[in-house]
Amino acid sequence: MTARVIDGKEVAEDVVATVKQATAELKAKTGTVPGIAVVIVGEDPASQVYVRSKGKKASDCGFHSETFELPAETSEADLLARVEALNADPAIHGILVQLPLPRHIDEDKVVQAIAPEKDVDGFHYINVGKLGTGAIAEAFVPCTPAGSMVLIRRALGTGDLSGLTAVVVGRSNIVGKPMANLLLAANATVTIAHSRTRDLPALCRTADILVAAVGRPEMIAGDWVKPGACVIDVGINRIDAPEKGEGKTRLVGDVAYAGAAEIAGSITPVPGGVGPMTIAMLMANTLASACRAAGVEPPSY
Ligand code: NDP
Repeated sequence: MTARVIDGKEVAEDVVATVKQATAELKAKTGTVPGIAVVIVGEDPASQVYVRSKGKKASDCGFHSETFELPAETSEADLLARVEALNADPAIHGILVQLPLPRHIDEDKVVQAIAPEKDVDGFHYINVGKLGTGAIAEAFVPCTPAGSMVLIRRALGTGDLSGLTAVVVGRSNIVGKPMANLLLAANATVTIAHSRTRDLPALCRTADILVAAVGRPEMIAGDWVKPGACVIDVGINRIDAPEKGEGKTRLVGDVAYAGAAEIAGSITPVPGGVGPMTIAMLMANTLASACRAAGVEPPSY
């Protein structure tokens, strides 16, 4: 079998097109313009690239977008004051503090200071709790697992995963655990694997849906994949690519793609799979926040 390639870029464009249209409708109906504030502290070049692309995507969607580039020496108190001001600003529906923060700032304290109803990253305990108790329609779900779930629904043609087994490799708070909760809420029978799991290959072979969120290049071999499975590769790993020339690198996922694609039913590539979905879901969450504030039903994807 050769797997169907799940085109994350195409799905992400479709999500953004829906967000754009719903934003125009929300504005016309209620006068509400979704507003997003992105806060970055320090000059980490990778973070600056992410922040710029988030700002650009927000403008493309028709959002009001504000970016706060604060110096690396910003104190925790000043950052908390900035978050408080944004919490109180009615023009802002989504607040995103770009992580990591400089070492002198307590990241968790800052994340928990964001008003839960503006926490479009879905990291506040209130949102984690809502997701964990199945109150998904009221929660903000972290963008990467939310985007992975959209890909799964579209690949399988259904949001009801009754009778299907899912294995999530990785138990981080930003990917593995919320992913497992989403799959559970969709009626899959879910197992979370991690570095202490025994016989991971055998466990993976039981999965109708296999989600890899490990951060280890191509760790999941083709023969760990159940024939016909839906494979979602969240991993983004940069490895040396001497075949492209001296000092060159390339991106690979956590799944050994070529082997897995021969066995799986559908599979996300890296790059071009889960990656583009993350920013699209950030826009979807911000729109949802604005819709909730205006008492309008947000779109589904
Ligand atoms: P973390 O490092 O926080 O978590 C990795 C998880 O993998 C941990 O639970 C760890 O287990 C588990 N793990 C590590 N080694 C093994 C092993 N040998 N066998 C089984 N499990 C193992 O990573 P993240 O969740 O933040 O990210 C995972 C990957 O996803 C990374 O490649 C990251 O770059 C990518 N990512 C991609 C995003 C996107 O937009 N597409 C967004 C976010 C992340 P334990 O808990 O026991 O240590």
